[in-house]
Amino acid sequence: MLNITTFLDANAYRLSKPVFHCPERNLFYTSSEILSIASGIGQDLLGMGVQKGDRILIYLNNSPEYLCSYFAIWRIGAIAVPANRVYTKFELAYMIENSGATVIITDLDGAEFLKPMLEGHDIDIDICFSGKVEIYISSEIENLKNGPVLPPAFVTSDDLCQIQYTSGTTGKQKGAMLTHGNWMAAISNECDVMGYTESDIYLGIYPMGHVGISWGISALRAGALYIMMERYELEKYLHLIKTHRVTVLSGMPPVIHSLDSCPPGTENKIRTVREIISGGGPLHHEIWKRFYLRYNIPIVNAYGLSETIVIGTGTAIRPPDYAFADKFQSVGHPVCFSEVKIVDENDSAVTLSQGQIGEIALRGPAVAKGYFGYPEETKRAFLEDGWFLTGDVGYLDKDFRLCLTDRKKDMIVMSGWKIYPTEVEETLYRCPIVQEIAVFGMSHPHRGEVPAAVVIWKDACKNPQDEEEKTKILLDFSKEHLAGYKIPRKIITVSDLPRAGGWKLLRRELREKYN
Ligand code: ATP
Repeated sequence: MLNITTFLDANAYRLSKPVFHCPERNLFYTSSEILSIASGIGQDLLGMGVQKGDRILIYLNNSPEYLCSYFAIWRIGAIAVPANRVYTKFELAYMIENSGATVIITDLDGAEFLKPMLEGHDIDIDICFSGKVEIYISSEIENLKNGPVLPPAFVTSDDLCQIQYTSGTTGKQKGAMLTHGNWMAAISNECDVMGYTESDIYLGIYPMGHVGISWGISALRAGALYIMMERYELEKYLHLIKTHRVTVLSGMPPVIHSLDSCPPGTENKIRTVREIISGGGPLHHEIWKRFYLRYNIPIVNAYGLSETIVIGTGTAIRPPDYAFADKFQSVGHPVCFSEVKIVDENDSAVTLSQGQIGEIALRGPAVAKGYFGYPEETKRAFLEDGWFLTGDVGYLDKDFRLCLTDRKKDMIVMSGWKIYPTEVEETLYRCPIVQEIAVFGMSHPHRGEVPAAVVIWKDACKNPQDEEEKTKILLDFSKEHLAGYKIPRKIITVSDLPRAGGWKLLRRELREKYN
């Protein structure tokens, strides 16, 4: 028997301190209160006829209700289908249909938003859901916190507990089938990587509908305090770090960017932080290095996917490592009980040697069972001998650290030359007038594709000459530092970059917009 929620029972016996805090509503919960609330919700779901293996979609803002809904669903052996509040009705309709969800946990606003679609009145949604989908409003959880605790449903480590939709960065979102065993492996690895203890205070900003929530669940597992932000705002983030003496931050690249451009004096506000987690997208090593030298806080650049609950590899660059610039390009070594190898992009049976670039394959106990309802895609990505083909391209360096080059789908092929956008961005981030930059493929009548870039300048352009001048500086910089075929053929000034869920760079949107 292995129900992932049992770590809460273990913690409830030994710890009476709060382990979860919602600053917006000034709420604090102990492990035993979380367990009681989850049991209350679980009991209601059972009352609605939910059975082991049923899919329950969660559509809430980051909140204690969201966290407790996960535990409620897992406790009764059902399967969570987490959604983000920023998803459109089209994305939600697809997830409900694809997962076959029978209940949606939401709040009153969410119910209002979903009802026309569920009742078949939404003229834009051309889906007739096969079964009845009921809505459960999660409210008044405060009344549940001292209530009785449900015994954990009997499950094996191979039983599904979650269908996690990928971010849809490269195409259609696919539901990774995650098990209780996957979760157990992931959170024990994350506890190892972060070295969490009961005295840690972790500030989490990942949307709760993303596997990034696992860093918070790992903090709970360790008995640390998990402070959850409803949404990210820099000023509030800095304030919470200072007032709660936060020790571990979830960063993700856009947050590291914003800390990087904070005024002098910010170092003092975050001096209690001992480590930052970044992941979900490339952290350009120029920014990483600058950040480290300024704040003296190691960043754990963790690499993983929805299909591996965040973590596949991840090592912090800590002193004395940081003296070696090349280490900043890597996402580290595989975590415990996991393996990584590089295979030929066109023939996964061929393993490449150190230094050779190819597709990254991962194997280990956190790897999902496949994609829900997509047997063909499952067969292509999840190989019979346990290896999972990630769709990312990279290589192993001389110390067997994994270095990411890019995603297979983002690679630009110009007259047969392969160009990796992340690599070009790495170089262009070193140009002092660049705040943020994204490179993508633009179609070309003779060459197939050519590289193009959208850029946010450090200081906004006040007039057209400014823009021309800056573009010229960036082009000259490119000519000096990049091979001819990698130089962006077009540079476009923008004020923001398209990001999935507000944080994951969407190159495919750039391709669609500018092609
Ligand atoms: P889809 O598969 O639908 O296109 P997605 O791949 O963005 O969506 P996620 O599972 O959220 O869905 O993201 C995983 C991807 O994020 C990885 O395949 C990789 O490209 C990228 N990624 C994760 N961690 C890192 C990291 N530390 N550095 C660079 N890229 C990362």
